[in-house]
Amino acid sequence: MWLAIPLSALAMTLIVGVRYLIVSGAFAWATRARHPGLYTGLDAQMRREIAWSLASAAIYGIPAGIVAWGWQNHGWTRIYTDASGYPLWYLPLSVLLYLFAHDTWFYWTHRWMHRPGPFRLAHAVHHASRPPTAWAAMSFHPIEALTGAVVIPALAFVIPIHVAALGVVLAIMTVMGVTNHMGWEVFPRAMWRGPLGAWLITASHHQKHHDQYGCNYGLYFRFWDRVCGTDEGLGDFTRSHAAAARRAAAGRVADRVA
Ligand SMILES: [Zn+2]
Ligand SMILES: [Zn+2]
Repeated sequence: MWLAIPLSALAMTLIVGVRYLIVSGAFAWATRARHPGLYTGLDAQMRREIAWSLASAAIYGIPAGIVAWGWQNHGWTRIYTDASGYPLWYLPLSVLLYLFAHDTWFYWTHRWMHRPGPFRLAHAVHHASRPPTAWAAMSFHPIEALTGAVVIPALAFVIPIHVAALGVVLAIMTVMGVTNHMGWEVFPRAMWRGPLGAWLITASHHQKHHDQYGCNYGLYFRFWDRVCGTDEGLGDFTRSHAAAARRAAAGRVADRVA
């Protein structure tokens, strides 16, 4: 048993790390195809983003691995595998409950991390990406990574969820973490500009947080930002795209001179 727990933690760390590399890598590749040159000149920053993110993968993997071991061996948590264990309508509801609980935890810890002390100590790492890229999804100081890593394992003890619905939650968490940072909108304009976008967070919303700091703290939903008056609406990518074009042009001039 004393070997099984570290092995489970190690396996989970590898899963989280590889998942990060695949999903961030796929969206970084999509960025190159869709907006060539957007990440030009950001190589050093992207290397830092990847290093912090892989460290975060271990911090996320350890509690998840311990809980997964307890689930398998001792029936810990309220994760169930028999789809008839709860009514079918509970499947989507459980996904929403997890997302809302995670969003609530994130909003308040994120706001706290914007106080001067915690910001200097931890959250400055995430904001060192200016502008963030698809690799910044898990670019957190270990203290911040720890606050994020405990949420889903803790919720698993409280809110019943089918193992497949949990997979959906983790997939949404991963994809939104990447797309919210990649510097352009992957979702159709009608979605994020429309009524749905008034409540859901996509890249245009989180971009403004990275631009202005003191607003748009949410993760998936604009609910808490709206309730607390911290929602400053959607940002736009005109400036960051123009800056990328200038970096690319300067790079071409430097190449010609060399
Ligand atoms: Zn961010
Ligand atoms: Zn922040």
